[in-house]
Amino acid sequence: MADESTGSHPAESESCDLCIVGAGLAGMNALAVASAYLGRGRRVILVDRRPRVGGMWVDAYPYVRLHQPHPWFTAGDIRWTQGHDRRHLATRSEVLDHFAHCLDVVRRRVTVDTLFGWEFDGVTESDGTATVRVSDAAGRTCTITTPRFINAVGFAITPNDPLPVQSAEVRSVSPNFCDLDEIASDRAPVWVIGGGKTGMDTAHALITADPHREVSMVAGSGTYFLSRDETFPQGRRRWWSGTPASVSGAQMLSHFDGTNENEANRWFRDTYGIWPTDCADTYVLGIMSAEESRAIAAGLREVVMDRFVDVTDEIDGPVMTFAGGETRAITPGSWIINCTGYVLRDAGPYQPYLSRGGAVLSIQPRSATMHLTSFMAYFMTHMFYRDRLADAPLYEMDAIDLRAKSKVILPFGILCLSQHNLSVMFDRLPNSVFLGCGSNVDSWYPLTRQVRGSLTFLLRHRRDRDSARRTLDTLRERFDVRCGPLASSPGP
Ligand SMILES: Cc1cc2nc3c(=O)[nH]c(=O)nc-3n(C[C@H](O)[C@H](O)[C@H](O)COP(=O)(O)OP(=O)(O)OC[C@H]3O[C@@H](n4cnc5c(N)ncnc54)[C@H](O)[C@@H]3O)c2cc1C
Repeated sequence: MADESTGSHPAESESCDLCIVGAGLAGMNALAVASAYLGRGRRVILVDRRPRVGGMWVDAYPYVRLHQPHPWFTAGDIRWTQGHDRRHLATRSEVLDHFAHCLDVVRRRVTVDTLFGWEFDGVTESDGTATVRVSDAAGRTCTITTPRFINAVGFAITPNDPLPVQSAEVRSVSPNFCDLDEIASDRAPVWVIGGGKTGMDTAHALITADPHREVSMVAGSGTYFLSRDETFPQGRRRWWSGTPASVSGAQMLSHFDGTNENEANRWFRDTYGIWPTDCADTYVLGIMSAEESRAIAAGLREVVMDRFVDVTDEIDGPVMTFAGGETRAITPGSWIINCTGYVLRDAGPYQPYLSRGGAVLSIQPRSATMHLTSFMAYFMTHMFYRDRLADAPLYEMDAIDLRAKSKVILPFGILCLSQHNLSVMFDRLPNSVFLGCGSNVDSWYPLTRQVRGSLTFLLRHRRDRDSARRTLDTLRERFDVRCGPLASSPGP
């Protein structure tokens, strides 16, 4: 097998007990969970077009950091071993080291052969067996037969290209490929295009490197973030203050009936949000501290609340134009950094989360079952291996389509979906599955507060599920998106 440890190559046909495509957070959660069901002596083939485990973190911009405390970014229940304080926000290389550690841990449970640098080309299914086709850049092909296949490409994030600009007088770059040290050591002004997590990370990195640096931002309608100080209070404050993410999420949904997103969005933003720009309408589940927000707000020279269109060279120099019709003369040599976002912008065709034959599980946003691919992969793989998926009345949602129709509605839609499906799964999975979910950030809090949260969930989840289902049905009607039980969907 082609593997970072053996360097050998697969035969034209291979067989295994499980094949997973995608070695990002979704694929690694699927792998960690499945390995517990498979046990020693079983063989898994893990395929990814990237050269190693880690998904988007392999080529994320180098100054990215986790926005939640690092222990809660993991596969299954695998613990970090790098010795950081629990509050630490891990860097890209630390995240990649943890991914490698997760693979090592799983390899103590099952045999994992990796096909890195291989592309998934398709799958067919017959008589309970999936046949997976993969190929590499050299034109070699391999056919893998397996009783279970998990297509865990998840968010399938790809790096940003530089924004196309007509001007020859500015430098348009991608955060993934530019050298931030070079930009930081240069004196030319920087325009950060985009006010989401990447835009804020980029502005923060430049401003903290040099507080006098001229950094401006084009922030669209503005993004707000969940307050890290409120969600992860420090020290003894964990005992009495702060609001666990599940509580703020449940409150957000209790303000939303499927029709009043503007009002509910304002309530949530004003109660739990933080934002360094003048206004902020969009929530993309990012997290930010008050300190970061203050540093960015104080350091930004100018914030344009509009959408970037182009930079053109006029007689007096380059001019930036915006969707609202405004223009700005900008300094020749300025850097234009494309931070317009990565998540839920590309996706392949629809695949149901479970194939008709039952051998293929699909973890991706066209048939989303939860708000994040990590949770989807974790819970859905448990359901898959316990054969509980076929008759579970889960809802699936085309999150890509919903985002295209309304960015404001998206977090409400996917959190509502999670609330509904978590309740359905709670009735079908043992408690140990819920306790073993390493991504559950509520365990930041002391045990007594966690128990209180669990009791509230136990008392309310069926009622909340009914309400969530009604809200999801309303969203389906209003936005004409795929959102409903699997049975109503066309087959593969
Ligand atoms: C800039 C940025 C910062 C983020 N920060 C955080 C954070 O701090 N905390 C957090 O929880 N989340 C964060 N996220 C969200 C992030 O998307 C998830 O955390 C997670 O890493 C996504 O994992 P994934 O497996 O769904 O997708 P990916 O990481 O995109 O992994 C999918 C994998 O599938 C492979 N693949 C896709 N198609 C094929 C194919 N046809 N053949 C072979 N292989 C294929 C890809 O190569 C890739 O390795 C961030 C996202 C972005 C863009």
